[in-house]
Amino acid sequence: MTRFIMIKTHILGFPRMGEQRELKTALESHWRGDITADELEAQAAALRARHWALQLQTGLDHVTVGDFALYDHVAHLIQLLGCEPRRFGFTGQETPLQRYFAMARGTAIHAHTSSCGCGATSGDGTPALEMTKWFDTNYHYLVPEFDSATAFQLNADRLLAEVDEAIALPASPKVALLGPVSFLYLGKSKEDGFDRLALLTRLLPVYEQLLTRLAARGVTWVQLDEPILGLDLGPAWQDALRQAYARLGVVGQPLLLATYFSPLADNLDLACELPVAGLHVDAVRAPQELLPVARRLPLDRELSVGIIDGRNIWRADLDAALVQLHQVQALRGGRLWVAPSCSLLHVPFSLRHDKALDAELQSWLAGAVEKLEELRVLKRALWGDETGVAHELAEARIARANRVSSRRVRNASVAARLAALPAGADQRRSPFPARQAAQRERLTLPAFPTTTIGSFPQTSEIRAARAAFKRGTLAEAAYRDAMQREIRLAVSKQEALGLDVLVHGEAERNDMVEYFGEQLSGFAFTANGWVQSYGSRCVKPPVLFGDVSRPKAMTVDWTVFAQNLTRKPMKGMLTGPITILQWSFVRDDQPRADTALQIALAIRDEVEDLEAAGIAVIQIDEPAIREGLPLRRAAWPEYLHWATRAFRVSASAVRDDTQIHTHMCYSEFNDILPEIATMDADVITIETSRSDMELLRGFGQFQYPNEIGPGVYDIHSPRVPETAEMLRLLTKAAEVIPAERLWVNPDCGLKTRAWPETEAALARMVEAARSLRLTA
Ligand code: GLN
Ligand code: ZN
Repeated sequence: MTRFIMIKTHILGFPRMGEQRELKTALESHWRGDITADELEAQAAALRARHWALQLQTGLDHVTVGDFALYDHVAHLIQLLGCEPRRFGFTGQETPLQRYFAMARGTAIHAHTSSCGCGATSGDGTPALEMTKWFDTNYHYLVPEFDSATAFQLNADRLLAEVDEAIALPASPKVALLGPVSFLYLGKSKEDGFDRLALLTRLLPVYEQLLTRLAARGVTWVQLDEPILGLDLGPAWQDALRQAYARLGVVGQPLLLATYFSPLADNLDLACELPVAGLHVDAVRAPQELLPVARRLPLDRELSVGIIDGRNIWRADLDAALVQLHQVQALRGGRLWVAPSCSLLHVPFSLRHDKALDAELQSWLAGAVEKLEELRVLKRALWGDETGVAHELAEARIARANRVSSRRVRNASVAARLAALPAGADQRRSPFPARQAAQRERLTLPAFPTTTIGSFPQTSEIRAARAAFKRGTLAEAAYRDAMQREIRLAVSKQEALGLDVLVHGEAERNDMVEYFGEQLSGFAFTANGWVQSYGSRCVKPPVLFGDVSRPKAMTVDWTVFAQNLTRKPMKGMLTGPITILQWSFVRDDQPRADTALQIALAIRDEVEDLEAAGIAVIQIDEPAIREGLPLRRAAWPEYLHWATRAFRVSASAVRDDTQIHTHMCYSEFNDILPEIATMDADVITIETSRSDMELLRGFGQFQYPNEIGPGVYDIHSPRVPETAEMLRLLTKAAEVIPAERLWVNPDCGLKTRAWPETEAALARMVEAARSLRLTA
């Protein structure tokens, strides 16, 4: 049968960092001046060659080219399209690489960038391009900047050189690039009232030229990613897609249009109609659309089915995948491309031999390399050679069966507790006004109470002590002494500053999610499961594989130790269920809502223990609640319902006179304020100083009912603000929020700062609060 030759496998992109994060090492050596640009480029080329070799070994029909990036793929595209913002003032003397890093990192990088990693620049020089989250992932891309004078010009040298590298292997390259409409969409207008869509007619000819050059080079497929097809677009952007592909589809270069992360929904017809040679869809995030697309897409087009989860680390259910793929084959006369759902950028390089995981856990997981292997097996099976891969299929089946029945995954007491959760478990005993009165009586705080968000400077001694304790070279007693010394220091400094609600400083925490994950059942940690966050920066998310429970108290000892040093209230400091969920790789065998609720119950236990130990103020951080929002608005209400409930479950077991705080940062919340209000925290602290209190206006208009601490200064920079500046922000805040509900605090935790600027800034912050008390 001819159908046997019609099965193709490919990937949308591969992790760039390398098995041992070689790219990170090379980049940082280059930035330090230890290796030249040529050495950096040579190491990058070696990584590409290694990654293509893996793709060839597993029988992919094309190696993917253009997905590699030294810092970020969108930044490479800005250069390729010749639209580097003029504000960088490039003279023509710089090399393309120098210009690239100037856009990525800014010129005149200020001192704190290397330690805090915030990527922001300040002071003299040109700030870097803004960085923002790539859809709902934890990858950050550099934001293109547009205005009416933006022009485009093809600079394809780097890309064409990479194509040549692949051809020389030899391999058949498929070039993967962000498509023109998503490129414009993901950029930012830098001119008031300028509609960046107006640039499309200028941009398309450059894409056309590029496609022509690639075809001439022998490239047989170009994958253009238009992930915005998974967003609520509106007619103007939909028309732009029509216009773009009507033009690019006729250049003669076969195009694979790729969408991922989100259902096509109202864009499904559009995606199937665009005159391109093939369409890739995400069958993991939108399995319900797979068969409709298979029916709708004309039969002369290729359909690439993203069946292997590119966003998570679980070994695939190959049997189930084959059932789905056979259904698609039946509808489409056997022809099929098979792929991961999206670029493998979002998963670690490999997990199969991770030193920190036992053999059983390893057998449940799949990093990028293992996912390539899954594609190899699927392809053989679809060819009709199931016996040739019988062993691999059986192994995958056994690993899955073992995971389903494992006692490490299911914990009957967690299930029983969830089932028995009373209806009111997510409600405080009394409404806010009664709690407020009880808390005022217990805490006796002044007006405009001052506090901080939790962490204090993490000095190199703190990091060294933590690392030595982890390695086993520092004994537990010595480690405890070192941490207690830090707590004493933090408490005495806060007392001297005159802050009202104190914190212990979080010296014992490396990371706000890892710290809790390490103490909760159901989590595992990898040794090498790194995922790129931005530039050279990688994160190693915990693996949440089983039912979550809390074997013992996690923070009570440190908090009580700190409370015993002061008569001021000591705030207990916890990470909330949604943030833990959001920043981990979570299980795919139950709804996220259920996992969130399990975490919430573990946090609830900790909250109760803190209260029982006499702690009167407890903060449950939820900085990630906004980023958990689904890409499609239609799915928001459901998410917000279970997410806010999980928070309330974690927070609601306490008495009226125990004050619950929450903290949020990194994002705008004005569009979800009613839901944030339903979280019913007694006090919310939010990042506001960088938006000049703009965010707070929403809280005022909405008449947010509980107490609020708008951040009065930016903690991302070592700059010490003037007292008057903070006073001005607070006065502004008092215009929209009743004064008796206002708190005074910085934007976020202070762990990336040093003590001198921290003490100076907090002294002025306390001074600002005091002068407000006199005038109010
Ligand atoms: N309590 C944490 C800290 O102060 C909060 C961090 C955050 O919001 N990202 O570090
Ligand atoms: Zn924060």
